[in-house]
Amino acid sequence: MDQIQIDQLRGLSVPEQGLFIDGKTCKALKGGTRDVVSPLDGTILTRLAEAEENDIDLAVASARASFDRGSWSKAAPAERKKVMHRIADLIEKNALELAVLGVRDNGTEISMAIKAEPGSAANTFRYYGELIDKVYGEIAPTTGSVLGLIHHEPVGIVGVIVPWNFPMMIGAWKIAPALAAGNSVVVKPAEVASLTLLRLAEICSEAGLPPGVFNVVTGQGSVVGAALGLHNDVDVLAFTGSGAVGRKLLEYSARSNLKRVYLELGGKSPNIVFADAPDLDQAAKMAAYGIFRNSGQVCVAGSRLLVERAIHGDFARKVTEFASKMRLGDPLDLNTEAGAIVSGDQLSKNLEFVTRAKAEGASLLTGGTRIREETGGFFMAPTVFDQVAPDSVIAQEEVFGPVLAITPFEDEAAAVRIANSTIYGLASGVWTSNLSRAHRMVRAIRAGVVHVNTYGGPDITVPLGGVGQSGNGHDKSPHALEKFLNLKSAWIQL
Ligand code: NAD
Repeated sequence: MDQIQIDQLRGLSVPEQGLFIDGKTCKALKGGTRDVVSPLDGTILTRLAEAEENDIDLAVASARASFDRGSWSKAAPAERKKVMHRIADLIEKNALELAVLGVRDNGTEISMAIKAEPGSAANTFRYYGELIDKVYGEIAPTTGSVLGLIHHEPVGIVGVIVPWNFPMMIGAWKIAPALAAGNSVVVKPAEVASLTLLRLAEICSEAGLPPGVFNVVTGQGSVVGAALGLHNDVDVLAFTGSGAVGRKLLEYSARSNLKRVYLELGGKSPNIVFADAPDLDQAAKMAAYGIFRNSGQVCVAGSRLLVERAIHGDFARKVTEFASKMRLGDPLDLNTEAGAIVSGDQLSKNLEFVTRAKAEGASLLTGGTRIREETGGFFMAPTVFDQVAPDSVIAQEEVFGPVLAITPFEDEAAAVRIANSTIYGLASGVWTSNLSRAHRMVRAIRAGVVHVNTYGGPDITVPLGGVGQSGNGHDKSPHALEKFLNLKSAWIQL
């Protein structure tokens, strides 16, 4: 990939996008459409079909019909594996086109998007394709007169609802294991980042996935997402997004067919730096990158930086220096290190948090403003607040933007207390050379992921999931398959 290739793709016109149902592109039944605004310059990139409840009915019916036909659900796992590999190959073949399209849609810097979006999605399809013909049933240790068999069966119809950050990567974390397990899937992408998942649907079809097995329905969350959540023929809902919507999905399940609901929600992840960290410069750089890449629109972003009092002043200066030196600019420039904010609305929300943090007495070290306004796009300077009180809004609520809150702490016990003082429990980081302390912290921090002397890890082999109000269930790793399989027990009298 080089800049010339990216520049050739950046100005291509994007045709109007339909829904993808039953193996083909179609208009919304009522003909609705919406504009897609690019966060890079505020211009209209294309138009998108705006579905309603009856489009979801159609997509779910098509998914159910494909499931009942059995050409995918009953196919030998080795056959499904071949198609999953072809999907991965086609994603790779179209990687640059997908990455550029995604950046124009949601603003992630291309250097990150190319690896995190098509790169990670291809890897995920290959991983679950490779895994599925190694899943065995079990024989239970019953008394000798019976045979107790445990089968794994696909759950049926999986509804997938995806947020706007990393739609291909996060989408693939759910879609790939759901498909590998033999299910049919209906995906509802975020309003402001639908284009790459629509393209993925075409790729899946080209790779040989039978019609109806993978459908994408675009539209408003409160209409299309709600219709999927309330549908009586959806068996499992796999969601990544905010806690507010997660709560609604649990309610929809209770009001409809008690479908299983898996939630990957937000975080306010603590990154904890002790004075004995092995390399304070590296820790400061990773602390800045851990919050400011993709302009903070990363669920596991280390948005709270807890620093031991003895090194607090120097360390805050170092992090601020790294933050101020980050290369901001055109998200389609390979040198850019932090891209756009997804929408004007999200930018306004971020700036409101800045106002509230100032009002609460936090000290602004850098940033706090909109930048590059002349482009017409939505950009915000990496923002660092120091002396943040652990119970203040900026330390408790997820911003989902480029805002870092620094809080000094006195000792290990205080670090644990502050780290565990939010409703969330997604990710965390610990920087120390003390092996015993590292292990104590891994046990003491209430979070689904603890990084030690690093921050962030893209490897598909390790599960990602939260505790507390960061959700339930896991994406990635063999464990993700469990969400999309039912156990069936058979008693056979001998
Ligand atoms: P969001 O909750 O606003 O939207 C997520 C999806 O839900 C979108 O597709 C949206 O259209 C849909 N939706 C909205 N209202 C709905 C309703 N009433 N019923 C059904 N669906 C509805 O989240 P977002 O702003 O797109 O994404 C940011 C959030 O996602 C942040 O909280 C972030 O932390 C979280 N996130 C979590 C992870 C993780 O793995 N834990 C990863 C990425 C993002």
